[in-house]
Amino acid sequence: MYADIIIDISHENLDKTYQYAIPQEYKETAVIGTQVMVPFGRGNRFLSGYIIGISDEPKIDKGLIKQISQIVPEATVIESQLIHLAAWMKETFGGTMNDSLKTVLPVKKTVKIKERKRICLNIKEEKFTEVYGENLRKNNPARIRLLEALQKKNTLDYDEVIHKLKISRSTLQGLEEQGVIKTVAEQIYRNPIKLEDTPYQSVNLNEDQKRIVENILQDYITGVRATYLIHGITGSGKTEVYMDIIDGVLKQGKQVIMLIPEIALTYQTVMRFYIRFGERISILNSKMSHGERFDQSERAKAGEIDIIIGPRSALFTPFKNLGLIIIDEEHENSYKSETTPKYHTTDVAIKRAMMANASVILGSATPSLEAYHKAELGEYKLYTLTKRAKEAIPPKVWVVDLREELKNKNKSIFSQKLKELISERLSKNEQIMLFLNRRGYAGFVSCRSCGHVVKCLHCDISLTSHNSGKLICHYCGHKEHLPQKCPVCGSKYIAAFGTGTQKVEEFVKKEFFNARVLRMDTDTTKLKGGHERILKAFAQQKADILVGTQMIVKGHDFPRVTLVGIIAADLSLYAGDFRAGERTFQLLCQAAGRAGRDALPGEVVIQTYHPEHYSITCAAKGDYKAFFEQEMLYRKLMKYPPAAHILLILISSKEEEKVEKAAQFAGEAIKEWMNQNSQELQVIGPAPAGIAKVNDIYRRVIYMKDEDYQNLVNLKNYLEGYYSYSEYFNNCNLQFDFNPMSG
Ligand code: ADP
Ligand code: ZN
Ligand code: ZN
Repeated sequence: MYADIIIDISHENLDKTYQYAIPQEYKETAVIGTQVMVPFGRGNRFLSGYIIGISDEPKIDKGLIKQISQIVPEATVIESQLIHLAAWMKETFGGTMNDSLKTVLPVKKTVKIKERKRICLNIKEEKFTEVYGENLRKNNPARIRLLEALQKKNTLDYDEVIHKLKISRSTLQGLEEQGVIKTVAEQIYRNPIKLEDTPYQSVNLNEDQKRIVENILQDYITGVRATYLIHGITGSGKTEVYMDIIDGVLKQGKQVIMLIPEIALTYQTVMRFYIRFGERISILNSKMSHGERFDQSERAKAGEIDIIIGPRSALFTPFKNLGLIIIDEEHENSYKSETTPKYHTTDVAIKRAMMANASVILGSATPSLEAYHKAELGEYKLYTLTKRAKEAIPPKVWVVDLREELKNKNKSIFSQKLKELISERLSKNEQIMLFLNRRGYAGFVSCRSCGHVVKCLHCDISLTSHNSGKLICHYCGHKEHLPQKCPVCGSKYIAAFGTGTQKVEEFVKKEFFNARVLRMDTDTTKLKGGHERILKAFAQQKADILVGTQMIVKGHDFPRVTLVGIIAADLSLYAGDFRAGERTFQLLCQAAGRAGRDALPGEVVIQTYHPEHYSITCAAKGDYKAFFEQEMLYRKLMKYPPAAHILLILISSKEEEKVEKAAQFAGEAIKEWMNQNSQELQVIGPAPAGIAKVNDIYRRVIYMKDEDYQNLVNLKNYLEGYYSYSEYFNNCNLQFDFNPMSG
């Protein structure tokens, strides 16, 4: 048996593995992730490395392969654990070991450590008096300022001396040459949090919150490790609960990873944690440079911080004594990686927690079907918070039937009800949010008169209209022509649905010409800081109406917003994938949660062609449980997750002919595998992908469904085997996506 070993864990060198033979005595213990000592190069040099692969094929002449000299006893180094996790990710989600290692190991780039210079006195007290006197006589005010400052504080920050004390560089140089002062370089980590002196104000948890904190900490202290799901409506005080639990876990000498979707990782949120936990905290975000990210992981490894807050990549922070992983807004799409390995953060978190003997807390106002299903099965411990912590009254929700508006000859994008309420709010000087829940494709076709949506016969998924004039199913490739008339009511008002935020903004300006309007979408937030600037302007009431996409409904608190209008709930309801109903429910609940956050009561208007759809009726009532039951029935009926598992196989190539052949071949290989293993998996495709061509790359998909995840993993391994040597896959790329988030 041979082991592939990496000596240097830096991204540039992950490909450089060396093969060593595994001695008989280590046969059992030498597994992926194990830290080993190996002879390296000429002479008697021994280096430490990690096993990242095992095989029984020597890559070079057997005689030239050296032996592993030792397994590092009880190697509990964090790298071992992360490499182990990477191997599990590769197996569970597909891709190469390299892809996985790159995901879990910190980016080790050649970073210049930023140096901060400090200035200190280089003379004894008697000498100081002498120098000080001399400068007094010579009337050197700059030097006197500096000497006095140095007398008060031992060392001073170089930049501050220059800018605040206004001492010139030449003065400093002169003093240094005389030996009066010296400058010292101090390596500093780039700490992304700026200090601010706001005192921490504790809140008294209510009974429901207290019960959760006590139960989870009781478990923790008595050694019980578990996954918890906290289902609490927006504003019910989940964050306060997390913070008290974190506090308890830190007291056990453990460390905490707190995941928050990037979009909700606002200054306000970070400050809340910072004020409570101070400098033991650090954050990660995508705007940080490689160097900054690397610093944070070094600080974690060195034990300088105990809490890291960040998006999904923060999950791989190399804490040595990890005690708890929290995933806030667990249902968010951004917790799914869209690059190989296409992992689900919750699954990886649970795996990492198991390896580190830690617990996991998932929190959401609208848990994913997956999470709630597991809670019902008893795999997660469920806690609920049903009341807003600050005694705000829940908003009043109006569901407006757009078919009625058409009957009443109202062709505006605003219903009568919404118009009335907007005018009323404007006259009272209260604020309004208009929300267009456009996400992914918005090319579905519907009838304006009766609301009928054209769906795939096989998949119960809305068809998407393409430029060709054809309607296509993203799952099975089924095609049909755009109907001239509605097949249900015969109306000619049947067309692709499409409204942009820009159009909404124009309508608002036309209809309410006195209103001050801000728009927030990918266009207006392209510039750095655009996001924050718009939100700040709105918070300072520089506008009456904020128009935007889902960006505006996530986690922002605007006390004067008392009306939220959802322009077209159907946009996400028929988005062409099986999670559309769930996403609509989530977005509507979040949007509703924006109205009336404070003392002023709020109202919500949901405009739709399908007022009877359960995603809409349940969101209007804020009834998660009812939504879950209905949606679960649909998933069971159609064998969609979590009732079954889906494996999406994506084959792509620059050459259309190649991709077609490879897809056919993969289809055959799947049949072969099923025959060999006497398995009957549901296979859909191969078919052109929803977006069949991206950047001149042709894409084909095959969907597989099965109740047993392991079956899909085995099949993936089988195809990966073919991929590595079959000529059919030459110049083709093969990717796997388990339980995909978007069609
Ligand atoms: P969530 O994370 O569930 O949205 P938060 O923890 O952010 O809720 O709480 C919402 C607001 O209510 C915050 O301003 C928070 O400080 C406040 N809050 C939470 N719990 C309490 C409590 N027990 N007493 C008073 N205020 C609270
Ligand atoms: Zn119709
Ligand atoms: Zn279909």
